[in-house]
Amino acid sequence: MARGWTASASAEVDAVPRVAPAAPSGPDAARTRRLWILGGLCALLVLVAFALRPIPQDPAYHNFADQRTMLGIPNALNVLSNLPFLVVGAWGLVFLARDRSGGASPRFLASSERWPYWVLFMGVGLTALGSAYYHWQPSNETLFWDRLPMTIAFMALLSSVIGERISLAAGRWLLLPLLAVGVLSTLYWHVGEQRGAGDLRPYAVVQFGTLVIVPLIVCLFPARYTGTADLFGVLGWYALAKAFETFDHQTFHAIGISGHTLKHLASAAGAWWILRMIERRRPVTPPS
Ligand SMILES: [Zn+2]
Repeated sequence: MARGWTASASAEVDAVPRVAPAAPSGPDAARTRRLWILGGLCALLVLVAFALRPIPQDPAYHNFADQRTMLGIPNALNVLSNLPFLVVGAWGLVFLARDRSGGASPRFLASSERWPYWVLFMGVGLTALGSAYYHWQPSNETLFWDRLPMTIAFMALLSSVIGERISLAAGRWLLLPLLAVGVLSTLYWHVGEQRGAGDLRPYAVVQFGTLVIVPLIVCLFPARYTGTADLFGVLGWYALAKAFETFDHQTFHAIGISGHTLKHLASAAGAWWILRMIERRRPVTPPS
């Protein structure tokens, strides 16, 4: 392509002092580029989801491997294995309440950084109730109460990672909108299902999107605190939970405990890993 750039023109330009380019450079440009990558990926996830046909809830989902009644509790192990969510949720809230007494702390340089974790551990605790309710009597109607608090916890985690990696203000201001998106995605599916036209696409974007976006943010933006490895540990527990969920029947036939029961335990371990991360973390010293 012709650029109108001749040897004599080059010599003239070389004779005058060079002017710095107007475009941002250095760390600012790199950060802008990373924000574009992140925004592009979010847009792509939404576009791909809505290029698919509506996804109704598969009724076979409710047919769990372990349906044994124990002590009068139907689907007993799938109901009782939600107890660790209650323990971790309560433990997390107690930890935040104690840590709060000192205002800013090494774990939370700004007190507003605690907000998403309050929501997260409330979501984890409420998942125990919602999931136990669902497994007591599995149906699309009760599944809504299982998914709602879990979605709240996911959105809170995303908000905390945005605040700690990209911008404290963005994390703070996005908490409520992200929660609203999570709740609406679950409501949209629930109301649609009641009308015979359930569509899981927005819910799938929220859940799958969080699992893609959180590691991407962790890879692209610098940490404010130590504990990045713990965050990948959380994702590892979640992947294990998904594997157990997928092989519900096979696990039950192999070891007598169903994959879904183990999914609850692995997910609760993931929530506990988040608590472990914030208990142990310290501010990262900025490079001099
Ligand atoms: Zn479950």
